[in-house]
Amino acid sequence: MPETRRVRLLIIGAGPAGYTAAIYAARAGLEPTLLAGLQPGGQLTITTDVENYPGFATAVQGPWLMDQMAAQAEHVGTRVVHDIVTGVDFSRTPFRATADSGDTYVADSVIVATGAQARWLGLPSERALQGFGVSACATCDGFFFRGKRVAVVGGGNTAVEEALYLTHHAESVTLIHRRDSLRAEQILQRRLFSHPKIRVVWNAAVTEVTASSDPVSVSGVRLRDTVSGAESHLALDGVFVAIGHTPNTTPFRSQLALDADGYVLTEPGSTRTSVRGVFAAGDVQDKVWRQAVTAAGTGCMAALEAEKWLSGHDSPAERQEPAIAAY
Ligand code: NAP
Repeated sequence: MPETRRVRLLIIGAGPAGYTAAIYAARAGLEPTLLAGLQPGGQLTITTDVENYPGFATAVQGPWLMDQMAAQAEHVGTRVVHDIVTGVDFSRTPFRATADSGDTYVADSVIVATGAQARWLGLPSERALQGFGVSACATCDGFFFRGKRVAVVGGGNTAVEEALYLTHHAESVTLIHRRDSLRAEQILQRRLFSHPKIRVVWNAAVTEVTASSDPVSVSGVRLRDTVSGAESHLALDGVFVAIGHTPNTTPFRSQLALDADGYVLTEPGSTRTSVRGVFAAGDVQDKVWRQAVTAAGTGCMAALEAEKWLSGHDSPAERQEPAIAAY
């Protein structure tokens, strides 16, 4: 039997942003309910070694780190519910969120922390080798490719930035793009083309990521020339897929101001969205930094701002009303 649950603060999403918001909100006595969604733990559950989250002298496993965050959030008083938000009504307070189970949550304040997903090429070999040489985050995993040969797939700002970043670690970086021109900004393109460690393979589609066994690791990619159809193999140690991200904002489309790419717009230096009392944290509102630690940081901000809102100390009269802008 579907139920209606009344909560002060509803947190939607169970990645670093959602759990950090929950830890701060619970410790502030807000008794938050967190809806964990389709992929509890978020993007870190599909990575292996995490070496850049502060507090651990040696690498920890992404799923383990997220289990710890969940346990910490529950330990301080968060109610974690394994349910998926299918629709929201932010047009009036209290706000309402309906879940896949049929339950409805009625909340005085909401933190949206539903994250984003890396887009993948959709190859079975790419999926099988995630964590074994295939990655969607150079900042997270580039360090593991010191002195190695890597490729970045894509032609946008992210692909070019990742290629440039990887030159700090890798011996060589090949940018593989399906067309003969990039969509990245000109200044980035100039840096890319002038870098001695980087070469570009134009008009090439990756058809398979090849592997060697014992230990299982990437050995290269099979390429198809998108003009001539010619097939070739490129020997590599790592493949970074940088063909964009998709923010998880489907339930919020008609409720919150989003940018052209579907990310929730927040005020600069804040997690406030276009709706007073609704805050957004983590990758759902950040297409630039996309790190677990930055998501955790904005999760903390969102909880502190929600606390202020709920205590009545955040009325519009008390502050300037800056225009909503991308984070
Ligand atoms: P993007 O601009 O959408 O570029 C995606 C790239 O991947 C495109 O070159 C696209 O090729 C390619 N691609 C897409 N699907 C593919 C597939 N199935 N196979 C092979 N290639 C595929 O994504 P993004 O670079 O992640 O950037 C997203 C947004 O964030 C953009 O607005 C960008 O400007 C912004 N951003 C800004 C900064 C910054 O300001 N420093 C940094 C990063 C991102 P085609 O070109 O052929 O379509």
